[in-house]
Amino acid sequence: MIKLAEELGIEKINFHNLFKTGIPRDHFTGNIDISIKDWFEVKEEIEEKVENNEYSIPVRIPSSFVTKDRFIRNPEYYGYCTCKTKSALLVHPNGMLRICPLLIGTPYGIAKYYDNKIVWDDSPTNELRGIQMNKNTPCATQYKHNKFGKYVPVCCSFKPKQNEKIWQELDWESKTTGDKIRTIIANNDDNEKNKIVDILNKRKDIEIVAVAKSPEDTYDKIVELKPEMVFAKYDFGTSMNGLDIVKKSKETLNNDIPVFNMISNTEIPKDEMVEIIQIVGNKMNTIIREQTEERYNGIIEDYKEYLNQFIKL
Ligand code: SF4
Repeated sequence: MIKLAEELGIEKINFHNLFKTGIPRDHFTGNIDISIKDWFEVKEEIEEKVENNEYSIPVRIPSSFVTKDRFIRNPEYYGYCTCKTKSALLVHPNGMLRICPLLIGTPYGIAKYYDNKIVWDDSPTNELRGIQMNKNTPCATQYKHNKFGKYVPVCCSFKPKQNEKIWQELDWESKTTGDKIRTIIANNDDNEKNKIVDILNKRKDIEIVAVAKSPEDTYDKIVELKPEMVFAKYDFGTSMNGLDIVKKSKETLNNDIPVFNMISNTEIPKDEMVEIIQIVGNKMNTIIREQTEERYNGIIEDYKEYLNQFIKL
């Protein structure tokens, strides 16, 4: 379709897709729905080509779903909902005023126009009733009664990097820090540090935002950059150790502290570990003894798996 649109001299192309997500539209869209797995393959191929400027026309493509770990990373960005931004209204010929396009064909709306006046719908068919207006959530219409494993549905109008006026006016692209796990590596042993940097740089889902060489520097960078994850040497041989980094970070950032992975070739004293866990709970992720690709990849995959399987949204 994109190639055809280019050949025909069409100025831009905009895609909608038809999933079965337990919404009224399911009943009149026949059997042309696509699976989430197939959709991700197509979408990623097209997005990559858009990114590489391989098309001569703008392509507006919906995300439709994201993995939970991505949603958790940028809830404001992925929580886009036209009902919440109040940025569009569907005015139907029968006088129905509605915001959510997925409710077309239902009695749900926000108001009705008749006798030259607009009457707000105060009944249970007001479409905003099922939406937590001040909370960043997956698409309420699709997620209320349905679950999709590690995926959550996002707004059908959520089309990253689109040129639509409203997307630009709301400056929506500025609401994301990106999908990568923003990471700090803290180690004063250059060999060990370089090895970790090399391992993590190979991964597409990690962004190393800083490298720190002392516990004080680690704390400063955690506060300044607010990473999602830290790989820190536990004992730098100075008066401040891993426990102190955790304590100070918690005092300053409270729940915004990162997930900690402590690197230590020796046993960390039990009472110190207990104290760390008391302070940060499940933000203390693991202790690393060997600097191998397998170990680091395992930690990151386990962490993502945890977010995708066990976090309730
Ligand atoms: S599709 Fe979902 S997120 Fe978009 S307007 Fe409707 S309820 Fe909101």
